[in-house]
Amino acid sequence: MTMIGKLGGVEIGRILDSSLLGFTAQKWFPEFDREAVRAHEHWLCPNHYDAECGRIPMPVHSWLLRIGKYNVLIDTCMGNDKNRAEFGEMHMLTNRYLERMAAIGLKPEDIHFVLCTHLHVDHVGWNTRLDNGRWVPTFPNARYVMARREYEAARDEAADPNAPGFIRNTFADSVHPVVEAGKSDLVDDDHQLLDCLTLRSAPGHSPGHIRIELKSQGQIGVFAGDMLHSPIQIPFWQWSSIVCWNQAMASSARRELLEYCCAENALLIPGHFEAPHVGRIREAGNTFAIDFGW
Ligand SMILES: [Zn+2]
Repeated sequence: MTMIGKLGGVEIGRILDSSLLGFTAQKWFPEFDREAVRAHEHWLCPNHYDAECGRIPMPVHSWLLRIGKYNVLIDTCMGNDKNRAEFGEMHMLTNRYLERMAAIGLKPEDIHFVLCTHLHVDHVGWNTRLDNGRWVPTFPNARYVMARREYEAARDEAADPNAPGFIRNTFADSVHPVVEAGKSDLVDDDHQLLDCLTLRSAPGHSPGHIRIELKSQGQIGVFAGDMLHSPIQIPFWQWSSIVCWNQAMASSARRELLEYCCAENALLIPGHFEAPHVGRIREAGNTFAIDFGW
């Protein structure tokens, strides 16, 4: 595997953990409208939507950025060996994520920054790995950068004894250990990193979700995390998912993101799009469309 894209002077790679195949659009989007989607099947199918069974495949991948001598990892997927009994597709995984990272020439020691768009179960898993029964930071030389607001919300949610097991487990095995090890930087709005990255507040999917803007040589890319889960949400930007913390806020954040991408000709780089994974946004009638590719 090699780096798959370039934006200005920054090379970008994608590291797959595994793909979630268990959700239909009907189940995932409460506002899903089967008839309205028919007019979009010609570009959604087969990669992004299965018109027969309604399934929307969602790969879970990290983005890897080479910025000068620095290696920056955005989101860390699901991780191995983690107790996620409520989710068969995420439970006690034995994925070859680190081998895929090695295939692009990087060891865990080579990662300088890990940025978390948010702290949900499928975005923090490889923050840690199991070592003699203890969860230790997978990337020993990295600073783990998280939004303070997101961290505090995740910590409080996990402290609720009535919270689902996977919520408590995710915080305990994938977030708390890096903070306890002194590896985390909890940052406020509009945090800047390495002169070309800006972390912008974009709450809705989760209380402290951020989007990460990359600017290099006049080019702009936006790592959007879970502000969208599927390209269906480009024409139907109003549709938030069942796992969004605040669906109305998630919709308005998504619309603002799509408007920004149009205005700046920015490359949209989400967390869960199937190939070709990225694209540029344009206005289409009273909504939006995507031109896939780098
Ligand atoms: Zn996600």
